Parts: sequence; structure tokens; C-alpha cells
Amino acid sequence: MASFEETQKFCSNCQRHVLARRPGTNHILHLLMVLFTCGVWALVWAGQSVKFGGWRCSFCGGTQLR
Ligand SMILES: [Zn+2]
Repeated sequence: MASFEETQKFCSNCQRHVLARRPGTNHILHLLMVLFTCGVWALVWAGQSVKFGGWRCSFCGGTQLR
């Protein structure tokens, strides 16, 4: 189940205001995975929130948003 947060941002790539999206964090799923993998998943969780935490242009997929 994918969930997204959405907002309006200016994309430098598209040179216009676009709908920006970022994945909403499914904390319950991550918590279950941490229990299931005896804590190893906590590393993935931390890595994912850094890597995928940013806003992305829903048009071109770029991250040059203001
Ligand atoms: Zn764009």
C-alpha cells in the first residue's frame, strides 16, 4: 500500500510549479520488519528515510524543487 504526501513546489527542471510528492513512511510495516529481522531492518529503515525522504517532482521525477 503506497501512501504519498503532496505539495506544490517549483521545479527547476520543468520551469514551473508542479505537484511534488514524497513517500509517506509506513511506520507499522517497518516496525514489523524490524521485529521479523531481529533488528537488521532498522538499518534499512534509517537508510530509506534518508534516501527517499525528499520531495520529487511528480512530472519529471526530479529533485530540484524549491
Ligand atoms: Zn519537474
